[in-house]
Amino acid sequence: MKRISKDTRVYSMSKDNKSVITVSPGESLIVETHDCFTGSLCSEEVPISEVPWEAINPATGPIYIEGAEPGDILVVSIERIEIGDHAVMATGPRLGVLGHKLTQEVTSILPIEGDEVVFNDRIRIPIRPMIGVIGTAPEGDAILCGTPGNHGGNMDCKEITAGTKLMLPVFHSGALLALGDVHAVMADGEVSVSGAEIGAEVEIRLDLIKGGMSDYPYPILESEDAIMVIDSKETLEEAIRSGVEKTVDLLVKDHEFHQEEALRFLSLAGDVRICQVVDPLMTIRIEIKKELLFKA
Ligand code: CA
Ligand code: ZN
Repeated sequence: MKRISKDTRVYSMSKDNKSVITVSPGESLIVETHDCFTGSLCSEEVPISEVPWEAINPATGPIYIEGAEPGDILVVSIERIEIGDHAVMATGPRLGVLGHKLTQEVTSILPIEGDEVVFNDRIRIPIRPMIGVIGTAPEGDAILCGTPGNHGGNMDCKEITAGTKLMLPVFHSGALLALGDVHAVMADGEVSVSGAEIGAEVEIRLDLIKGGMSDYPYPILESEDAIMVIDSKETLEEAIRSGVEKTVDLLVKDHEFHQEEALRFLSLAGDVRICQVVDPLMTIRIEIKKELLFKA
C-alpha cells in the first residue's frame, strides 16, 4: 500500500500546492500525520506561545486523485486511525472560550494507555480517534489549514472517525486532498481550543462520484447509521441557518420531501450539533439517522 510521510505537509489548502503523490480512484493509502503543533510542544515546559504560528495545523499531502475534476465529489473512506503513545493539549490567554480569564499558559502531555487517555490521576477518558483537519483545495484563494469551509479544512468534527465516509467537493483537477490534526479524543465544542492532539497514521480509501458536486458543494459525512451535513460560518447561528438550508435541500433533492415537510422532519429527527466553537469559523453538523430515510 502507498504511504505518505508526515514530512510532506502543507499549512494551507490551495490549488497552487504541488501534489506529493498520485493515487487512482478505489485505491487505499496510509497517511502519516503530525499533531497540530507539528510535534513542537514536546514537553510540559514548552508554552504554546513558543510554537511559531507557521507550525500550527500541518496537513499531510496534498494527494492527487487521478481523474478527479471540478464538479466531482471525492469520497474519503476512513478505514483506520492509529494514534501515537501520547497526546498534548495547550491552553492560555486568548485561547478558547475562556481565554479572557486565563492568565497563564499550560501545556499538558497526556499518555495513552491501552484504549484510554490518562487525563490525570483520577480520570481516564476512552479514546475515540478523529481527524480535525481534512479537505480539498478550495475553489478560490488558499485557505489556512486552521480554517474550515466548504472544502473541509479544520472542521474539528468528532464524528470524522474510522468507519465513516467523508464526501468533499472537488474544485480543481486531482482534488488535492490533505489531512492532519488527529485527536485521540475531543468533545463537541473543543472549548479549550485543543483536543488530545496526537500524531497518527491514517488509512484512507479514495473514490470519486463523477459530476456529483453540483448538488453538494460542501462536506457531508456518512457513518454506519447517520448522515451529517457539516457547515461552518462566522457565528453558530449563521452556521445553523446555512446548515439547515443545505440539509433541507438535500432532503428535497434526494428523498422526495417538499421543502416545508423537510423542515418539519428536521425539527423532529435532525439533530443540530456543535462541532467546534474555537476556530476562525464555527462548525456545526446536522445529523439524521439513515434508517429514517432508507427504510424500503
Ligand atoms: Ca483542529
Ligand atoms: Zn487539533
